[in-house]
Amino acid sequence: MSIDQTRAELVEYSTLILKQGLATGAGGNISARHENTMLISPSGFSLAEVRPDQYVAVDVATGAIAPGSLRPSSEVLMHLACYRKRPEIRALIHTHPQHTIALTSSGHDLKPMFADFVIYLGYDIPHIDYVTVTTPELAAAVEAVIGRSNCIILRNHGAITAGENLKQAFWRACTVEEGATIQLLATLAGTPRFLSREEAGRLNSLGSEQYRQQLLARMKGA
Ligand SMILES: [Zn+2]
Repeated sequence: MSIDQTRAELVEYSTLILKQGLATGAGGNISARHENTMLISPSGFSLAEVRPDQYVAVDVATGAIAPGSLRPSSEVLMHLACYRKRPEIRALIHTHPQHTIALTSSGHDLKPMFADFVIYLGYDIPHIDYVTVTTPELAAAVEAVIGRSNCIILRNHGAITAGENLKQAFWRACTVEEGATIQLLATLAGTPRFLSREEAGRLNSLGSEQYRQQLLARMKGA
C-alpha cells in the first residue's frame, strides 16, 4: 500500500469513528504506520475535518516531525510508544467512547460476555487508572501494557486499540464499546454473567476454530 493510500484510509476510518459515536469534537485520534513513518491526525481538528494531506508524518524511531506539517495529535507520544514496542502494529485508534468511559470509571473492569469480544480483544483487558492526558507518564503507562494486548482501557479517558491494519484497529474499537454497552445494560438489569476462562478457551478448540478463523480473516481483510 502506498503512503497516499494509507492517508486515504485514515480519512475513511476517521469518518467511521465519528459515525460510530466513538469520539466527538476534537476528541480521539488515529494513526497508521507506513514503513518507518507514522501518519497521525493533527491536533485541534475534529477527525471529520482532516484532509488526507494533513495527517502528520512522524519518524517512528526519532519522533522527528516532517517539516511544514501541522502540529500532531497531543497523544503523539502514546502512539509512538506503541509502534516502538510492537513493530507488527500498523494502526492505532484512540477513542473516547461514552459507555466504556462510564462503565470503567465506576469501579468496573470491562470483561467478556460474548464470543466476538474474546476473539477480537482477548480475555484479559489491561485497565490503566487515570493519568493526565497527553503526558509522557500516560505514554509510559500504555507502553507497559501494549505488549500483552491489542486493547487498553484508560479509566476516566477512553480506549486504545491496535491492529495490523486500520480495519482491525477499528473493529476492535467498535467491539470495546459494544462490550461496554452490553455490560452496562446487564449491570443495570441484574448481575452480568461473564464468560469463564474455560468457555473462552473453548473458542479456540476444534468445533469453534472455523468460526474464529472466519471472523479473524474478515477483520484482517483489506
Ligand atoms: Zn484522549
